[in-house]
Amino acid sequence: MSEHRLTQKQNALMIDPRRTRVLNSCSDKPGAVIYWMSRDQRLNHNWALLFAREKAARKGQPLVVVFALAPSFLDAPFRHYDFMLKGLEETSKALERINIPFMLLEGEPDTEISRYACQSEAGAVVTDFSPLNISRNWKKKAADILDIPLYEVDAHNIVPCWYASDKQEYAARTLRPKLQARLDEFLVPFPTILPLPAPHVHHRSPDWKQVRERLQKDRSVPPVNRIAPGETAAAESLENFIKSRLSGYATARNDPNSNALSQLSPYLHFGQISAQHVALRVAESRAPQKDKTAFLEELIIRRELSDNFCNYNPSYDRFEGIPAWAKQTLLLHGQDKREYLYTIDVFEKAATHDKLWNAAQSELVQSGKIHGYMRMYWAKKILEWSSSPPEAFEMAIYLNDRYALDGRDPNGYAGVAWSIGGLHDRPWFERPVYGNIRYMNASGCRRKFDVERYISRFREPATLFPNA
Ligand SMILES: Cc1cc2nc3c(=O)[nH]c(=O)nc-3n(C[C@H](O)[C@H](O)[C@H](O)COP(=O)(O)OP(=O)(O)OC[C@H]3O[C@@H](n4cnc5c(N)ncnc54)[C@H](O)[C@@H]3O)c2cc1C
Repeated sequence: MSEHRLTQKQNALMIDPRRTRVLNSCSDKPGAVIYWMSRDQRLNHNWALLFAREKAARKGQPLVVVFALAPSFLDAPFRHYDFMLKGLEETSKALERINIPFMLLEGEPDTEISRYACQSEAGAVVTDFSPLNISRNWKKKAADILDIPLYEVDAHNIVPCWYASDKQEYAARTLRPKLQARLDEFLVPFPTILPLPAPHVHHRSPDWKQVRERLQKDRSVPPVNRIAPGETAAAESLENFIKSRLSGYATARNDPNSNALSQLSPYLHFGQISAQHVALRVAESRAPQKDKTAFLEELIIRRELSDNFCNYNPSYDRFEGIPAWAKQTLLLHGQDKREYLYTIDVFEKAATHDKLWNAAQSELVQSGKIHGYMRMYWAKKILEWSSSPPEAFEMAIYLNDRYALDGRDPNGYAGVAWSIGGLHDRPWFERPVYGNIRYMNASGCRRKFDVERYISRFREPATLFPNA
């Protein structure tokens, strides 16, 4: 794999100030720099870590990376904590090898980080960016408590979210030109993170086994064995995709039986790989241009459009957040007769009348992910078979967040809002239940791929849910 190595001097110059902002009005003090790692859980290709490292080096102070393990993150079950903690364990060891201590705090992140910064007499705190309400609230509280600056660095988007646009965009077509106009400036190679001098700060490495044992999480959703967590596995996954599946992506990506997709979304969600690094590796690969273009459209435009949606629309995970035309048409058709009506229990157990839908739900439960094309069908049918559109919205978010390893992500909220609520889409011709929301049915799927084969690939619900 080619690494984009730069000199130390370039290192210091590469962190674009437009990627950073300060969330309170305090000034830097002497003392260690803390990187409050949150959304971007990696050592490599991480602008927030590079910014914190540069600040520490300039001040001649140590850098400490701190992760605050919240007692509950949007009700995430054990599957998600397991994936995240294994990834963090790997990253913590890699950080320590370059003399950057890693601390794991347990408790409410805003309080824990503020307390740790005060106790350790830190001089500045740096964190990464997330548009989700829960993270914004933590940061707002921490920024108010701290008497040192809290810097925020967008290490997730290629074009920083707040810089790409200052409002909620209507659709991909309105954000695309804004991003494309900035890619030359922001889609730049990463400097390698260089070791710091050995730290003088006292710290204790986490006992990962004990941390896992202490977690009182819902263990009914077990880890997914098929996707290995961590930065190394993420990098290998990317290289495998480029080598064996990127060529052909444009034509095969809508066939759920083809294994054409990158499978990178869990790694991107937990920040175990950088989207910018993925984009650079794909762009420099020898795959046909049409495949690279199709993939980069998803990775850059669609993904950053989701962050834009959540950043500027605080109701992103509720029916209230969908466009006015969609709300109106769905409510107008709220009383239409539904051919089938299911409760969350039936959906969750993949026990509807529709084998194709059940297969998609089984895929979600078993593999922690649904193929991108089937995700649309899955969500639209929840709308069709629920007693009301707001209830459908809530159930789709619940199921996606509970089982999908890449759930609790702006992409998931935008995906549900697109499928059920016409977000980033346009009105289509009117029909019962859906109103003007774009419709999808099994015959459409049959025209695109071998539906029977897809159904046969996933176990029957009875084996999947033995207690059902
Ligand atoms: C109802 C519904 C729910 C969804 N829930 C999630 C979710 O919880 N988490 C999630 O990451 N994605 C979600 N998506 C978007 C998309 O389906 C997934 O990103 C994709 O299936 C992930 O698989 P992949 O990494 O193999 O995709 P690839 O096709 O290989 O794409 C590479 C990357 O591009 C981005 N991307 C691809 N498609 C989209 C899209 N439509 N919107 C935004 N970004 C995209 C993702 O970051 C993805 O990892 C959802 C879509 C729908 C319709």
